Amino acid sequence: MNQEIRIKTKHFYVVLVILGFLLIYSLSSSRDCDENNQALEDPEFVAEREAFLPNQKGPTIYAITPTYSRPVQKAELTRLSQVIRLVPNVFWVLVEDADHNTDLVANLISRSGLQERSVQLFAKTPTNMKLQGKDPNWLKPRGVEQRNKALDWIRKHLAESGGRDRHSVIYFMDDDNTYSTDLFIEMSKIERNKVGVWPVGLVGGLMVEKPVLNRDGIVLGFNSAWRPERPFPFDMAGFAISSDLILDNPQAQFSYEVERGYQESELLRHLTIVHEMQPLANKCTDVLVWHTRTEAPKLDAEKLLIKSGKRSDDGLEV
Ligand code: UDP
Ligand code: MN
Repeated sequence: MNQEIRIKTKHFYVVLVILGFLLIYSLSSSRDCDENNQALEDPEFVAEREAFLPNQKGPTIYAITPTYSRPVQKAELTRLSQVIRLVPNVFWVLVEDADHNTDLVANLISRSGLQERSVQLFAKTPTNMKLQGKDPNWLKPRGVEQRNKALDWIRKHLAESGGRDRHSVIYFMDDDNTYSTDLFIEMSKIERNKVGVWPVGLVGGLMVEKPVLNRDGIVLGFNSAWRPERPFPFDMAGFAISSDLILDNPQAQFSYEVERGYQESELLRHLTIVHEMQPLANKCTDVLVWHTRTEAPKLDAEKLLIKSGKRSDDGLEV
């Protein structure tokens, strides 16, 4: 009997030791994978986010979105509008690639409750600059006409509303990317006369394209693999600009005349130099925006239906 109790006790201790090891292992490995995400889970950061989002804190962020009519347009803009609704200091500058404003975009703005903090503009890409049917998307620059229109509007709007004294931020927010609300908290930290920079996920043939900093947190360059010789070799989604720079440099705009991949450099060469950019997103270690691209849906059955004089979306806005 005594021996039986001794064996049971021994088993109990063995199990206890194993459980102890498992506990220590799981704690240490979870610490390992948390290290990268420290800032996002840091209670201080969480508190900052909780305090920031519902209040009208921070400079106005003018988010410029070029957009054009296609089957996925409303889905893309719905995604964007719902991020913008969560960040009260964003003002949405929507520019349609069309020769008039469309009902689809107007309805989307009013249904999302963003009338008070958005403007609907249009600027049609000239036919010779527009991608045709099966053209690969890199053949011609996209968004040039629309982004320039938005810059004109913002310059005028800021001049008229005394915006020169008020610091605000300008961001190019394409309609197909994926944005975290935390990105806008970071952008709100951009200082006067500065261009803020941060990593962008899934772009330029890499998992992440990011600024490279030195030990003092100065931007030295970028890790870009595609055309790294460009003056600013990174994507439009990875920076935002203090309004002073946009107002003080009216010549800064996009152009059809530049080589593929040089739109960012074309604009930024008027505004800053690499090592004066302001690194954000936890010293450029957090990814808060992804250069996602939406697959064009297959609509073979719809085409057949249309040939027979019908359509599935008759009387519906999709
Ligand atoms: N865009 C546009 N007209 C076009 C093609 C694109 O206004 O003919 C807009 C598009 O909605 C997006 C931006 O320009 O907001 C960039 O286009 P896209 O996402 O296709 O470019 P990429 O992802 O290849 O940089
Ligand atoms: Mn895109």
